Amino acid sequence: MAATPDNPLLGVWTTPFEVPPFERIAAAHFRPAFGHAMAEQRHALERVAADTAAPSFDNTVAAMERSRAALARVEGVFFLLAGTDADDAVMAIEREMAPLLAAHDKAIFTDETLFRRLDDLHARGAAVDLTAEQRRVLERYHLAFRRAGAGLDADAKRRLTAIAERLAALGAAFGQNVLADEQAYVLELDADDLAGLPGFVRDAARRAAQERGLPGKHAVTLSRSSVEPFLQFSQRRDLREKLFEAWVLRGDGGRMTDNKPLVAEMVALRAEQARLLGYASFAHYQLADAMARTPDAARGLLDQVWAAARGRALAERDALQGLIDAEGGNFRLAPWDWRYYAEKLRRARHDLDESDVKAYLQLDDMIEAAFYTANRLFGLTFIRRDDVRPYHPEVRVWEVRRDGRHLGLFFGDYFARASKRSGAWMTTLRDQHKLDGEVRPLVVNVMNFSKGGDGEPALLGFDDARTLFHEFGHALHALLSDVTYPMISGTNVAADFVELPSQLYEHWLDRPEILRRFARHHRTGEPMPEELLARLIASRTFNQGFMTTEYLGSAFVDLDVHAGPTGDAVDAGAAEAATRSRIAMPEEIVMRHRPPHFQHVFAGGGGYAAGYYSYLWSEVLDADAFGAFEAAGDVFDPAVARRLHDCIYAAGNTRDPADAYLAFRGALPGPQALLKKRGLLAPDSNAAA
Ligand SMILES: [Zn+2]
Repeated sequence: MAATPDNPLLGVWTTPFEVPPFERIAAAHFRPAFGHAMAEQRHALERVAADTAAPSFDNTVAAMERSRAALARVEGVFFLLAGTDADDAVMAIEREMAPLLAAHDKAIFTDETLFRRLDDLHARGAAVDLTAEQRRVLERYHLAFRRAGAGLDADAKRRLTAIAERLAALGAAFGQNVLADEQAYVLELDADDLAGLPGFVRDAARRAAQERGLPGKHAVTLSRSSVEPFLQFSQRRDLREKLFEAWVLRGDGGRMTDNKPLVAEMVALRAEQARLLGYASFAHYQLADAMARTPDAARGLLDQVWAAARGRALAERDALQGLIDAEGGNFRLAPWDWRYYAEKLRRARHDLDESDVKAYLQLDDMIEAAFYTANRLFGLTFIRRDDVRPYHPEVRVWEVRRDGRHLGLFFGDYFARASKRSGAWMTTLRDQHKLDGEVRPLVVNVMNFSKGGDGEPALLGFDDARTLFHEFGHALHALLSDVTYPMISGTNVAADFVELPSQLYEHWLDRPEILRRFARHHRTGEPMPEELLARLIASRTFNQGFMTTEYLGSAFVDLDVHAGPTGDAVDAGAAEAATRSRIAMPEEIVMRHRPPHFQHVFAGGGGYAAGYYSYLWSEVLDADAFGAFEAAGDVFDPAVARRLHDCIYAAGNTRDPADAYLAFRGALPGPQALLKKRGLLAPDSNAAA
């Protein structure tokens, strides 16, 4: 282990705002720094466990919070670089550290001595004098230990470990089977198979063929990004059918790569795991730590959206059938026809050229728009700080202030590069807390936008601009955080609540108040024409019956298979059929993810198991929350913004998410605002558009 003073990750940071001294940090520093920081936490927790004084909040919970300081610092730097500027050395360290960090955490959360101290404090309840926030933190620790299996007898713990190991192996095999099915298939296209495909789809098909060792030819593979454009544009109904059938049978081919037996075993093991931990079903176990709390609550909300979505999908189906009939096509709309005829209808009704919109959306203007919104809502100002050295020369740094007071630093890392992962995300180098005096956060937004060409500014598509607002919403959740304990700081909230601040923020981008001011043509400086603005906003509700229905089918089957108490082996095919029949899924629509290739739920750690509903749950929340501003008649209404700040953006996990929402909105969310946003309220409003 390198001596502490030589390792910049472990020393004192004397940089402005105590930003990590990136220029002094090399890959070789991470292994010893992780080793040192984990050992430091272990020793600190051994001291907590060995304490002969009776458990108190300070000598147990606060001591545990303090124990992670060094490790949090090393992790913050490492995982930022692993995602944004990784080389082979960093990637090798990541593979090596991931299991060690998981084992480190598991050892802590199943430590019986620590658990006894927490359990003692917890059992004394109101007799221990605690603030509301302290009570919440104690509650969270106690729950985390219980959910890891602390307090169970040795047999049960051994069984839980065996289940976790078997689930990890099954999850890996599940993902590999889907990948194998995707890799085994390629649809080669001859010249007359390209009918209807626009240039960008042909280019992609040429690249796909090249990658599959078919240079000079065209091909479609089974990845979503290859399949969907083909289904959308190909005039060849026979090829659409062939491709679609292969696509929806991934993991369901009845051979070596068949995932149905794996699904059965995973569902049974998860039910057993939940039973050992004292829950009625795996869905109950997952949701007990979510805003929804119970599978019934999650399903109840989906049910309320389902009726409207299904009705709209049936109306859309009829419109598409009308198009087929009008063209003299003598057949019934099939699942492989939907995207093709929807695209035709979209062009007829909402012809919108992406490049027309893009010319008005400059990256720098959209950053300004996000800052302006934060200024109007929360009084924040953003000051460029070129004296702060970021981790990569392309990264911009701003100091965030309110009423002249420093709130934190915001790092904007906007452009794609070879060393960066794809996608967009928010992360922190340091979380806000006040454990031993005020610590202000260092918050990073990472994007993968393209740079502008020769002397041209970088331009964004509308979805890119939405992503920028989304991640900035997460950033504000971290920047505005005002809590005492790191465990409940900023975005450390329930999985079905964490997207509220981000998705809610997207609503301001859609507003004429913002677009008129910030969407300006990059050459002429003219604002976006009102007519283009109106078409842009109207096009958003197109085909939403299909999209919502396709999604909800998967969300329902996920809850249905995991809500069974017994853990009896579930036949994936029968489960899918039962769910389809229960909800009367339109025949022309296949679930977005069928169980044999439902990777969110069964691949890897299955992070969305019994949790796929949360995408829609969050959208219900954000639509309902924005409704508070609409009801006030001002999207910057100061009183509503104040409540939003205090109850949501600044509150971290200081209270139960449902209580926090109730405090902000005065009522729990209903689906009406979401139905309106997706255009699902009046069955034929879009047909008339
Ligand atoms: Zn998000």
